[in-house]
Amino acid sequence: MSTETTIATVWNVALPVPLPRLFDYRPADGVADKADIGCRVRVPFGSRELIGVVAAIGTPEAGTPELKTGERLDTQPLFHGELLESLRWLARYTHAPLGEVFATALPGPLRQGEPLADTHAWGWRLTDAGRTAVPRLRGKPRRLAKLLAGSDQDEDALADQLDDWRAAARALAKRELAARFAIEPNALVPPRRRGATASGTGVNTGPPLNPEQQAAAEALLAARDGFASFLLDGVTGSGKTEVYLHAIADCLARGRQALVLVPEIGLTPQTLKRFRERLGIAVHALHSGLGDGERARTWAACVRGEARVIVGTRSAAFLPLPNAGLIVIDEEHDGSFKQLDGIRYHARDFALVRAKALDIPIVLGSATPSLESLRNARTGRYTHLRLHVRAGEARPPRVRVTDVRKRPLDAGMSPELFEAIAATLRSGSQALVFKNRRGYAPVLLCHDCGWSAQCTRCDASMTVHAGGRRLQCHHCGARRPAPDACPDCGGLALQSQGAGTERIEEALSKRFPDFPVLRIDRGTTQRRDALENLLRDFGDAPGILIGTQMLAKGHDLPNLTLVAVVGVDEGLFSADFRAPEKLAQLLIQVAGRAGRAARPGEVLLQTHHPQHPLLETLLNGGYHAFADAELAQREAAGFPPFAHLALLRAEARQLEATHAFLHVAKAALRDSGAQLELHGPLPAPMPRRAGFQRAQLLLSSPERRTLHAALDAALPTIHAAPEARRVRWSLDVDPVDLY
Ligand code: ADP
Ligand code: ZN
Ligand code: ZN
Repeated sequence: MSTETTIATVWNVALPVPLPRLFDYRPADGVADKADIGCRVRVPFGSRELIGVVAAIGTPEAGTPELKTGERLDTQPLFHGELLESLRWLARYTHAPLGEVFATALPGPLRQGEPLADTHAWGWRLTDAGRTAVPRLRGKPRRLAKLLAGSDQDEDALADQLDDWRAAARALAKRELAARFAIEPNALVPPRRRGATASGTGVNTGPPLNPEQQAAAEALLAARDGFASFLLDGVTGSGKTEVYLHAIADCLARGRQALVLVPEIGLTPQTLKRFRERLGIAVHALHSGLGDGERARTWAACVRGEARVIVGTRSAAFLPLPNAGLIVIDEEHDGSFKQLDGIRYHARDFALVRAKALDIPIVLGSATPSLESLRNARTGRYTHLRLHVRAGEARPPRVRVTDVRKRPLDAGMSPELFEAIAATLRSGSQALVFKNRRGYAPVLLCHDCGWSAQCTRCDASMTVHAGGRRLQCHHCGARRPAPDACPDCGGLALQSQGAGTERIEEALSKRFPDFPVLRIDRGTTQRRDALENLLRDFGDAPGILIGTQMLAKGHDLPNLTLVAVVGVDEGLFSADFRAPEKLAQLLIQVAGRAGRAARPGEVLLQTHHPQHPLLETLLNGGYHAFADAELAQREAAGFPPFAHLALLRAEARQLEATHAFLHVAKAALRDSGAQLELHGPLPAPMPRRAGFQRAQLLLSSPERRTLHAALDAALPTIHAAPEARRVRWSLDVDPVDLY
């Protein structure tokens, strides 16, 4: 027996490659140290160089050939403590390579090996020479100098006040008339005194909480010293955000960081402004619209503990929180928290794991909680906090169903709908016509023979765009001009079937020529601020908005009193077991847009199926009645949250290759001995996409542990199988949709 201590001489490096293992390298300076764990290293890999993260240290196995050396990039680990352990957990849970998980967690520049970013905000001030020079200056430099003569300004404030201020600032700096300085992190959001508030401190205290809000806020404060999970289940406009703000303010007062996750479309400038004004400190945002540099700065500000409040979308779940005090997940039911490719994590679920590891409270809020979260609340895993009424003056909207069977429709809209819009406009309010989902855009159909335009590369219809002149496939992006005549029968009776938002816009503009009609969808708003600008121009005057999911939340539309929903029916009949849940959530959320201010709102649902059980339950009993019925059905059918799923997807040019791989995988999973239900190989809901044949294998078990044990046992075999090399494949644990 040897008592010698072995000296670690290798790094076990996690690299961003799709192989489920670590790679050994020798440190260039000889000794591997525990303190290297979590540091980035640059290493040779084949003919390339890669950036990886040291996951462990060790000694080389006997008989290994000479190892290549790597270079350490960080003096201090980027990942350590809780975040490192949580990411290891995520790799195990998603069965993904640790190196890919680390890469997903980092902003681009850090992933590429750049140093941790500078996090100072910058400000500008005049020099003494600058003060005396102001009267002699001209043009932009003069305007900038006058601003700075009033008070020092931070760069954000300058950007708000003066276009192209940077060039002017450079000109002044060159002549030593102005100078740039670093602003202390967390200085109170600086001297923009416009909109001073009642309290006079620059912090707006908000409305006093009503009793239900008060009870919820007190429950959160009482649990602030350790891990606790809450479902804040409150109808739209019930003041959930006010409750979060109270908990966050308390968290800040204790010197801790707060992380708020919001859905992609919920992170609007309005949201950030509200948080900033109420909390009185800088609020860091993290969303997909930011450049790499900004994301890297936010990351650095978090790791240094300078960022105190961070409001971000899905990927913000990966931010380091050395001083965490609270996590909030707003609209926790939202589908955008699940990443659909790469590392298929769920930001809400990962945040729960982190909150537990950080030993801090976490609040999930929604007016339409996911069935998973509702069940967790009912079984006592989460504390269930309810807000039953709208806060302030707002009244719940009145909901009306119109049966459109046998009614003459124009672009899918009934005479009742036009009448309701006309009445709304006459009363000086705004109407929203909500079209359920862009994916149901119109297809081109021959009225004579039934031919319809199909994508040649996918099993999917093409949709009609550009006023009928262009066809586009939403799955592979293929485009072609629409034919003038039917390719099958030569007939000229081609029509678009099912009204898309463009047709709705056309019909409404024709009927209401004196009112503005604004269509909001991805087509009209490629850029994030484009939506803001469109809505600002639209203003509060009477008019009609047409929208898809993008308008279901976020933006405050105080003069909106009518919401008309068309295209409900497409959502009632779908193969996806989550479709009813998604439709119910969408209907409740969009209805919540009506009458947010003092005016009462009205919601009109147009359907061919007024007696559909989903609509009846939802309308008579509300979301919770719907959820009860749906949970019972899920339990009977053995679907989540009563079972745990994983989906193995594969695609290849040849269907045989796809099937051969999935059969190998199925056999390996069977051999694992776990009690697992295996369905498939089955064709994917879209069996062909961009020329690839797609199939899938669904794994299901009532026990999460069983599912993971089977995957742990079978994945090495699956990875090593020769069949795996002939397909593209991926594993999705807890798939959100089975596509
Ligand atoms: P939610 O997050 O549940 O949708 P918000 O917190 O955004 O609700 O509140 C909706 C509106 O009601 C906001 O305009 C908010 O300022 C207002 N509000 C919230 N709580 C109160 C309250 N206790 N008294 C008066 N107004 C309130
Ligand atoms: Zn035809
Ligand atoms: Zn296609």
